Amino acid sequence: MTLTPEQQAEIDALRSQTQQTLRATVPGMEAHLYKAYEVLDHGFIRVIDYMGDDSAICQAARVSYGKGTKSVQNDEGLIRYLMRHWHSTPFEMCEIKLHVKLPVFVARQWIRHRTANVNEYSARYSILDREFYIPAPEHINAQSVVNNQGRGGVLEGEEAARVLEILKADSNRAYDHYEQMISQEGQDGLARELARMNLPANVYTQWYWKVDLHNLFHFLRLRADAHAQYEIRVYADAICKVVADWVPAAYGAFEDYRLGGATLSGKALDCVRRMLKGEEVTQENSGMSKGEWREFEGVLNDPA
Ligand SMILES: Cc1cc2nc3c(=O)[nH]c(=O)nc-3n(C[C@H](O)[C@H](O)[C@H](O)COP(=O)(O)OP(=O)(O)OC[C@H]3O[C@@H](n4cnc5c(N)ncnc54)[C@H](O)[C@@H]3O)c2cc1C
Repeated sequence: MTLTPEQQAEIDALRSQTQQTLRATVPGMEAHLYKAYEVLDHGFIRVIDYMGDDSAICQAARVSYGKGTKSVQNDEGLIRYLMRHWHSTPFEMCEIKLHVKLPVFVARQWIRHRTANVNEYSARYSILDREFYIPAPEHINAQSVVNNQGRGGVLEGEEAARVLEILKADSNRAYDHYEQMISQEGQDGLARELARMNLPANVYTQWYWKVDLHNLFHFLRLRADAHAQYEIRVYADAICKVVADWVPAAYGAFEDYRLGGATLSGKALDCVRRMLKGEEVTQENSGMSKGEWREFEGVLNDPA
């Protein structure tokens, strides 16, 4: 973990203070507040603040004056209904603010999710730390031969060792040059905003990221998915754990309908109906392309 003793002390100080509030709080989320959860070799996510809970989603859906219902089952049923029917605005009533430390190449993928509020660490103002993402040996893979946008088997032996060596040496050399350029010892020193351009994309950055639950679910559906790059998926997985403790009913519905569910095209649905009638359906008579059929089979096959 990458926290300095001072940073940990700040977190501990925040966690030692409590205040009374009339607002909705969630014990599971209070347990997470401010704590840093390790992701990759130097990264983390931590919850800085949150608003709302499962009841807030139901209150908004019912536009009620109070809790609306005392029954958890009623709320859960309503939340599942909302999720099933893409009635998304009640989920926007909940918000979460995260502090994330992540490699720049992961940040480039993350920032594509435009429906969030972001404030990033300024490398114009501050000096970046000598911290680079160096993959663990089991995550150094070859280029995939079936998916241009993916990785295949793990590299082994000499090739793996050479790749690791190159990554470490290049990162450190770039950082040495960064330090040399900004140094003001015996020279003016290059501006930080310019010197940073020499740093590689595996250098770590940090940001505060605030998003509502609807858009967070959209992010998680795309980034906690097997097709997402491993290095962003581990962040999404860490966030999923926190969200499950924050809004258990909403997360349960999301897990069931979005993470665990699948969308079928009209053609695919027609194939399922024909299969149920006992017809032998193949790619050739399905009306689907080879790629569509492969994905369709992936949906139908038991992942176990
Ligand atoms: C597996 C994977 C591979 C990818 N590969 C590539 C790639 O090769 N190249 C690449 O450039 N990107 C790639 N992306 C990024 C992808 O195209 C999206 O930019 C990213 O997933 C964010 O999705 P989003 O726009 O739906 O999210 P958000 O920006 O959070 O938007 C959420 C929703 O809000 C609406 N919205 C937001 N802003 C606007 C707007 N200005 N106009 C209209 N509607 C808006 C849309 O309905 C959108 O779906 C990839 C993503 C994934 C998950």
